[in-house]
Amino acid sequence: MHKTATTLADGRELFYYDRTAGTVRDAVDERPLEPAASLSEIRLDPVLGEWVTVAAHRQQRTYHPPAGECPLCPSRDGRLSEVPAADYEVVVFENRFPSLAPDSAAHVAAHDDDPLHTLRPGNGRCEVVCFAPDHDASFADLDEPRARLVLDAWTDRTAELSALPDVRQVYCFENRGEEIGVTLAHPHGQIYAFPFVPSRTARMINRAEAHRASTGRNLFENLLAAERATPERLVLQGEHWSAFVPFAARWPYEVHLYPNRRVRDLTALDEAERAEFPSLYLDLLRRFDRLFPAPDGAAPNRTPYISAWHQAPKDGGDELALHLELFTIRRAPGKLKYLAGVESGLDAFVTDVSPEAAAERLRAAAPH
Ligand SMILES: [Zn+2]
Repeated sequence: MHKTATTLADGRELFYYDRTAGTVRDAVDERPLEPAASLSEIRLDPVLGEWVTVAAHRQQRTYHPPAGECPLCPSRDGRLSEVPAADYEVVVFENRFPSLAPDSAAHVAAHDDDPLHTLRPGNGRCEVVCFAPDHDASFADLDEPRARLVLDAWTDRTAELSALPDVRQVYCFENRGEEIGVTLAHPHGQIYAFPFVPSRTARMINRAEAHRASTGRNLFENLLAAERATPERLVLQGEHWSAFVPFAARWPYEVHLYPNRRVRDLTALDEAERAEFPSLYLDLLRRFDRLFPAPDGAAPNRTPYISAWHQAPKDGGDELALHLELFTIRRAPGKLKYLAGVESGLDAFVTDVSPEAAAERLRAAAPH
């Protein structure tokens, strides 16, 4: 992997990731962009003990690209986008309207003295990862070397963002599909570098620490061994990775992909694990796209999904195992699962697809 760093017209950082050295990435951002004032604050919910990010500046977005002008396509044919180069392989840049912004401390004062109203600047960072220059592609369309390059970019960003002084956890994810709320069709994901440990991660760590205290063993190692030994919910097995539908899946179709060797984050994967990841992940994504027929029978079908990397925070949380959680909100052709009263009101999930049946369908959705 070869990386070239540059700066956009308003000062944001951008990184090109190329498979081979020697690709010249010296295009200059010609747009007349003013530095965006990004201020973000995090507030602690005193009842639940969870941080909520308040990014009110995102409401004042002024930069709306005209319809048909994708900001993630390369800059070519006289049209200037967020990526100055006329072509690219994988590119990562700072979000122009971030939920978490590194300069927030310049605008937001911390309030740590009142336990009912704890507020701090949202000194994190949000980045956009473009998986390919082709506007109409999808991650599932990438070839294995390109998917490997994306993995290397996620890994590099995890290392760099973790080194920022205020960052506690780095989260790489992809939202795919209008049904998930994606407004840009271009194949891309995002990275959030949080100045706190999100509550879901904290809960996983607490559960794993309790498991260690009561059994002397690691929760994730026990879980993976158990799922690998029972074929019911297993979807894919490689030499270095395993994918299964969790026993208590929340979503209609949900798969968790783990390296067979427990590691805390992306930076700890070894070369053999990195080399095998693309084939398994692409296989899973393609199975998701085969779950439901396209409305008019036209190919390719696109199942909306969320793909989320769970990694240990920068400090502590060593019991946590790196893994990817992939799920769709589609439960049947043309039908979505909405988070309504029970899920949104109480965080108590109800699913009407049995995890074992979901695993069977995913196994059957193999390439023809
Ligand atoms: Zn595009």
